[in-house]
Amino acid sequence: MTSVLRLQGVSHQFDNIRVVDDLTLDIAQGEVVCLLGPSGCGKTTALRIAAGLEPLQTGRVLMGETEVAAPGRQVPPEQRGIGLVFQDYALFPHLSVADNVAFGLSDLAKPLRREKALTELRRVGMDSAANKFPHELSGGQQQRVALARALAPNPRIILLDEPYSGLDSALRAQVRDDVLHLLKESGAATLMVTHDPEEAMFMADRIAVMRDGRIEQEGSPHDLYCYPNSAFVAGFFGEVNAFTGPVRDGHVETPVGLAAAGDLPEGAQATVIIRPEGLRVTTQKSGENLYTARVMQARLLGRSSLIHLHVQSGENGSTKEWHFHSRMPGIFLPDAGTRLHVEFDLGQIFVFPA
Ligand code: ATP
Repeated sequence: MTSVLRLQGVSHQFDNIRVVDDLTLDIAQGEVVCLLGPSGCGKTTALRIAAGLEPLQTGRVLMGETEVAAPGRQVPPEQRGIGLVFQDYALFPHLSVADNVAFGLSDLAKPLRREKALTELRRVGMDSAANKFPHELSGGQQQRVALARALAPNPRIILLDEPYSGLDSALRAQVRDDVLHLLKESGAATLMVTHDPEEAMFMADRIAVMRDGRIEQEGSPHDLYCYPNSAFVAGFFGEVNAFTGPVRDGHVETPVGLAAAGDLPEGAQATVIIRPEGLRVTTQKSGENLYTARVMQARLLGRSSLIHLHVQSGENGSTKEWHFHSRMPGIFLPDAGTRLHVEFDLGQIFVFPA
């Protein structure tokens, strides 16, 4: 597939601190790519460089075959044919909602502009507010209008910075579902910034996990979730249990099971990451579950139950105590003090050099 948006070797400094470090990213037509990472890792800066809102210092930005930014040379954002939803790219306060959306439709004859603007507003459920002004809308409603404004001119490239951050959880689920389908219908290349792994997995064909300005790992949501290449990436997709211990006979013995150490050398210190959903607890003993744990607390989270476990390891005299979390589907709420058998789901255990 041909790339519509390319960032090549992009680096950026603020006050001599490198916040984007040799970032290379290609986005194809119709593809949704998410930049995912913790606060301050450089996601927004990378997106602002792609948009042309931040002058490029090092590297290149291409849109199709056209170079739109190189050091000292930049095509301004409004000439790049991109749709932007940025926190600081607010709605025009003096224009009505419909006029905000119609603003980028100067290619259309005047009567058609309003019609197209209303169609776009309908897609985000905001057509009834067409004649209102931005200050009369809630933050979430303004965000939906901003999405409509960005999508209206059918841009080839759409850049979104935390586009659902102002929406409550029910509205967010609905709007992001609608936006995903709109983006896919439009065939635009989309680059979206988020710090929310679930949001990235929902939206993205491909996710680039960023850390300290660099891409730590890039791949499909499935690749990143099932084959993380570091404890950082594994831990970014939800809470994890972490244990550090030595490799012996090709395994690391944790207080809740034996983890295969892969190609880590004998004696090396390894970090074992165990997702709570990979730690199954039962009241029944089977041949597999040789390890036990005591329930400290159990809480219903909705679709699953979280069980706080107290585990001991080591011989008498050098006993260590551990606190692990197990997440079980549905309602499973054993009483505090109950002793349970523990078993690993090997697909949810990851071992890395410590
Ligand atoms: P968040 O999720 O919190 O928005 P982010 O990953 O998008 O974070 P950036 O906004 O790109 O991160 O910021 C990266 C770093 O650059 C941060 O340390 C930030 O303080 C710094 N930074 C961003 N913009 C500027 C600026 N205009 N001047 C100086 N430093 C800046």
